Amino acid sequence: MQKIDIKSLNMEELTQLVKDLGEPAFRAKQLYDWMHVKLVDSFDAMTNLSKSFREKLKESCYFTVLEAVQVLESKLDGTCKFLFRIPEYEQVLKNNVIESVLMRYHHGNSVCISSQVGCRMGCRFCASTLGGLERNLTAAEMLEQIYRIQQISRERVDNVVVMGTGEPMDNLDNLLKFLQMLSDEHGLHISKRNVTVSTCGLPDGIRRLADEGADCTLALSLHAPNDELRKTLMPIANKVSIKEALAATDYYFEKTGRRISFEYSLVSGGNDSPEQAKELAALLQGRNCHVNLIPVNPIAERDYRASTAPNVAQFLSILEEKHIKATVRRTLGSDISASCGQLRKSYSK
Ligand code: SAH
Repeated sequence: MQKIDIKSLNMEELTQLVKDLGEPAFRAKQLYDWMHVKLVDSFDAMTNLSKSFREKLKESCYFTVLEAVQVLESKLDGTCKFLFRIPEYEQVLKNNVIESVLMRYHHGNSVCISSQVGCRMGCRFCASTLGGLERNLTAAEMLEQIYRIQQISRERVDNVVVMGTGEPMDNLDNLLKFLQMLSDEHGLHISKRNVTVSTCGLPDGIRRLADEGADCTLALSLHAPNDELRKTLMPIANKVSIKEALAATDYYFEKTGRRISFEYSLVSGGNDSPEQAKELAALLQGRNCHVNLIPVNPIAERDYRASTAPNVAQFLSILEEKHIKATVRRTLGSDISASCGQLRKSYSK
């Protein structure tokens, strides 16, 4: 019999499970509280449940707990990078390590989580995609990254960004479940408004996220002002034009009223010229949006270099002149390979 992934069950599903096991419904609330508020790491820690009920749970369910195999703290800014091993439950999984980041800002703590083990989107500058996609993460495995970080750091997590390894729209069912459980008042109760989901731009996924009332901030990884250039950086551009991606983000904005973020990683001599800044401004003209400029983080496998500080400043000022709201993302944790996929890759080696 395949065991049930108990930590991926929402309140309703958990209540059904508890009934199926012949226990009163209020046990579901206790169980949910142990798993999603007290963040315990085993059934045995659930001391207000009878031993026989805990044994029944162990027989029918598995309990996802990520194991921190490496924690690196930046000496520069307190950013912490976590490398987690996913225990092998039912299936034998290889290469099952994922990474997450805790960023400490003045306005609170943000955690950046992974949504997949690896990624199949193939963006040229990204370390996470070099080995392809291993598998999707479950809702429990996404939640656990936040839970373990909160337990290890003993600090409350205020904001969550789904910007680590993986394409969240390529794992949409589990993402939606994750969002619902994260914001559930019986759980950590982190408002969806404090969650950002970043995508390379899969239009069907964006529309479904809007239709399901996700209400989180949506970030589109744009990185180029036209399709021709975008194709050289992001294979997805061969399937989805910028026009189609923007139509989907416009729909998201109409449905949710949430301002769209556009990610633009600046590559020296690639997408950072004044003409390209003007082209980007024209493209986004009239949209209620925000552009995040990020000097590209060079990875060993490719020879992309980050834009120079003067070029970044010039790019920013052109956008501002055209009344496009933009900021340059501060680089955090540069001493601990904190960007996308770098640590996992060095560990896998
Ligand atoms: N797949 C999603 C989310 C993960 S990547 C997406 O494409 O948005 C999170 C962000 O980091 C994306 O904007 C991605 O393009 C960017 N990114 C990845 N590798 C990078 C690098 N080496 N330097 C700068 N930005 C990078």
